[in-house]
Amino acid sequence: VSRFEGITMAPPDPILGVSEAFRADTHEMKLNLGVGAYRTEELQPYVLNVVKKAENLMLERGENKEYLPIEGLAAFNRVTAELLFGADNPVIKQQRVATVQGLSGTGSLRLAAALIERYFPGAKVIISSPTWGNHKNIFNDARVPWSEYRYYDPKTVGLDFDGMISDIKAAPEGSFVLLHGCAHNPTGIDPTPEQWATIADVIQEKKHIPFFDVAYQGFASGSLDEDASSVRLFAARGMELLVAQSYSKNLGLYAERIGAINILCSSADAATRVKSQLKRLARPMYSNPPVHGARIVANIVGSPPLFNEWKEEMEMMAGRIKSVRQKLFDSLSGKDNSGKDWSFILKQIGMFSFTGLNTAQSDNMTNKWHVYMTKDGRISLAGLSSAKLEETIGILRLLLV
Ligand code: PLP
Repeated sequence: VSRFEGITMAPPDPILGVSEAFRADTHEMKLNLGVGAYRTEELQPYVLNVVKKAENLMLERGENKEYLPIEGLAAFNRVTAELLFGADNPVIKQQRVATVQGLSGTGSLRLAAALIERYFPGAKVIISSPTWGNHKNIFNDARVPWSEYRYYDPKTVGLDFDGMISDIKAAPEGSFVLLHGCAHNPTGIDPTPEQWATIADVIQEKKHIPFFDVAYQGFASGSLDEDASSVRLFAARGMELLVAQSYSKNLGLYAERIGAINILCSSADAATRVKSQLKRLARPMYSNPPVHGARIVANIVGSPPLFNEWKEEMEMMAGRIKSVRQKLFDSLSGKDNSGKDWSFILKQIGMFSFTGLNTAQSDNMTNKWHVYMTKDGRISLAGLSSAKLEETIGILRLLLV
């Protein structure tokens, strides 16, 4: 008898489990709208040309495989903070940002959660309802208490702004407020600039600490600066804040696990101390981060010609998703005489559309039609092509109207 007899079967992951189930399906018409990764018009994974160029450069230079320092590659940490805040942001010159390379967005969030658990005992993180499924896992795993604030309004398939504001107000003073910097996952609904300003007001008033998750910089609007404007607005008010970054989507570096945690402090001295503690937390968990993705990012963001090429490719990716979104809206509203208002599709931003399908309907999409999606009703527009659009629309109309 096994010594592991007491270990029961874990449930499949609600997001990554969708891809596992998709792979196991042998039906020829199957379609994966669950995956949070960019696909070409042929529905194939895409490696950016600018990434291939950077990798060739790295090969030519014959760089070694020595360990990185605990905080990661210095050139990466510099450019990643500059990309986020803007290179001429005073917070950079004043050295008020503690940046540590992390294991992509997830690892960076996890490191920040460990810091909260250790130095803010009892403090609560408040997260949007709904949010990316892994947020709850991350804070549970780090033993950080969390609760939800209202965000999505099913009646309008839009933002419940009043609910959001009153829940942020009601949270205990000094809570961490987790915010999606842009392209909210799974809803695709972002606050307007005026709403962001009000959110900042309330957070300041309540002495909360903003904690941004930026997993889609450049991918939402196609512009790196525009997608960082929420973070920059808060920084310009002199607030201290946390930002987890990921290069999975915007550089297509999913498997390289490259990202960073940035903690903006009110003084350079505080930033130095915070950074030393982030390193102390990282050392026993994974010692030091991997170098390959960090070098790719440092080469691309640090070289003006490659940086420009990246921006063009990002616009192309964001543009394809926007055109799929437009086509989805056109076809759904065009042939539909039910009077249903489909405009929510165009108001959403980023890789996903939150359809409003419930769990039973989402299950039906999968079990009956072999269309795979997460049970919260989220579909990835990157998983659709012009060719696949018509058949998907047929099914969606059946379920949604
Ligand atoms: N945060 C959000 C909101 C996401 O959607 C994702 C990826 O789907 C991540 C963080 C982290 O992804 P990764 O760990 O691959 O960078």
